Amino acid sequence: MADNLPAIKIGLGDDTHRLGKGGPLKIGGICIDSDHHAIGHSDADVLMHAITDAILGALSEPDIGRLFPDDASENHRRDSADFLSEAVRRLWQHQMQIVNLDCVILAEQPKMSPHIDLMKETLAPILGIETSQLGIKAKTGESVDAVGRSEAISAKAVVLIAKA
Ligand SMILES: [Zn+2]
Repeated sequence: MADNLPAIKIGLGDDTHRLGKGGPLKIGGICIDSDHHAIGHSDADVLMHAITDAILGALSEPDIGRLFPDDASENHRRDSADFLSEAVRRLWQHQMQIVNLDCVILAEQPKMSPHIDLMKETLAPILGIETSQLGIKAKTGESVDAVGRSEAISAKAVVLIAKA
């Protein structure tokens, strides 16, 4: 980082997966009861993917799709915690740490709010942070667009990192 800049960086992650019939839904490192599951090459955890890309973006590292190609057999049905752990490893390699992380899940159903606390408790140790440094909110698609019609699920994440 240039000497004349403050030792903080911001990163943005955004991910979408199609939904298929039948649950459970893997999101934020947990499996929740749902009429739908997310479709993807890995375990399709849209929140973990958005967070992974936010961290990688803040570091100017290659994004999740370049690090873990969706045509590579080793990534088939892979636990997305592996992707997140690699982003955190690179964070520490850069001698940076997370100041805070804020996320939004966009899903028409099921209701995410009863599961947010468990997602935080699951994600925080992987990220090496306290749950107080992690925000997760959920919104619906208001019955319009692909999210609103339960055809897709999305997540966005923004992270602030600083020199450790
Ligand atoms: Zn994804």
